[in-house]
Amino acid sequence: MRESMKVCKICDQPKQEGLQLFFAFICTDCEKEIIHTSPEEERYDYYVDRLKACSYQKQ
Ligand SMILES: [Zn+2]
Repeated sequence: MRESMKVCKICDQPKQEGLQLFFAFICTDCEKEIIHTSPEEERYDYYVDRLKACSYQKQ
């Protein structure tokens, strides 16, 4: 049993290492991607949308 595996909310992949936010789990890879993506890039909006969707689910 590997209970430490969590599904990343950005890439939907099960990962062991990452950042547990209060509403979502983000893997280390996606965390780096987000940090290195500037708000002018289209991908940034995608990440923000994914995270917003997670936070809305809990409310
Ligand atoms: Zn990820």
